[in-house]
Amino acid sequence: MWIYIIAGYLFFVEWQVLLLGDKFAMKRIALVTSGGDAPGMNAAIRAVTRVACSKGLEVIGFERGWDGLISNTFRELTPRNVGGILHVGGTILRTSRSPEFRKPEGRKKAVKALEVNDVDGLVVVGGDGSLRGALELSKISDTLIVGIPATIDNDVYGTEETIGFDTAVNTAIGEIDKIRDTANSHERIFVVEVMGRTRGFLALTIGLTVGAEVILVPEVEYNLESIVHTLEVNGAKGKKSGIIVAAEGIGDTYKLLKAIEERAGVEVRLSVTGYAQRGGNPTARSRLLANLFGEKAVDLLLQKQGNMMVGLEEGKVTSIGLQEVTTNQKQLDLTLMKLAQTLAT
Ligand code: ADP
Repeated sequence: MWIYIIAGYLFFVEWQVLLLGDKFAMKRIALVTSGGDAPGMNAAIRAVTRVACSKGLEVIGFERGWDGLISNTFRELTPRNVGGILHVGGTILRTSRSPEFRKPEGRKKAVKALEVNDVDGLVVVGGDGSLRGALELSKISDTLIVGIPATIDNDVYGTEETIGFDTAVNTAIGEIDKIRDTANSHERIFVVEVMGRTRGFLALTIGLTVGAEVILVPEVEYNLESIVHTLEVNGAKGKKSGIIVAAEGIGDTYKLLKAIEERAGVEVRLSVTGYAQRGGNPTARSRLLANLFGEKAVDLLLQKQGNMMVGLEEGKVTSIGLQEVTTNQKQLDLTLMKLAQTLAT
């Protein structure tokens, strides 16, 4: 008698495990690219799709950032239809800034889209703002959410580098190297404005790698006297040309140019690198990060780890909680400013 009861119980438990296991198994994941576009986002779409499909998952891609979740606009992604995009800048899924997603009603619509499409896991590819959005969404959704940091600004806490940063640096370097030729020929000073409204990661790396005489970042208030002093010391040594790399967030660069002209009595030209920095074919580095991050994001979802972001720490692919990412601020290494100064004498 007891033997039948125990056998029946074991049979019941086994079925429950099978049924529940099936219920919670990851079957379908979605991708979204959001916020400012970054070269390598397409490489990330390709990597996530191909790795996920190789593990038997279905993949859909919501279009135009968070707006695509709000309006439930998506397309199926397959290993074949993400072909030919690895080397292309921008994002085939398009992107947007979504004011509606900032409101609870907008995010509720996004949750609905995840539910009606049976999305078990969502991969959010974007910058700091998109990752904040991902955290807010995860608070009201059962779908597991993993972020992939992709922004030319490299301003995301929890990762040494973001997808697209290296490409944007190289694009700016290409432009500034050319400006250097004309600056040298005419013995002129150039102010080159690069992107970076609030953070100076781009300006600092660009400045350091083009040998800029002066680097200005939003984190440090600039001092006109010290800029002029640097230019004068260089001039006295016979270095009549110079490049001042300034992040857009330092203030009005044209005003700065005028102030330098007035104070130093030299001609100064302004070049604004602008949106070209956002586009272009991703460099090997940006593609590599996209591949590694894409694989890790799918792995996390398969391990049922949501609310995470993949990142790079000490050169290794890691993961970190979205909460930690969004409550901390990545620090700019200001010792590099000193090195840049030493190198540009
Ligand atoms: P990026 O991801 O490149 O930093 P944004 O800062 O514009 O770009 O963020 C992209 C989108 O993420 C925003 O348009 C908005 O819809 C959403 N978002 C940003 N911050 C938040 C937040 N604190 N709460 C909810 N959604 C947010």
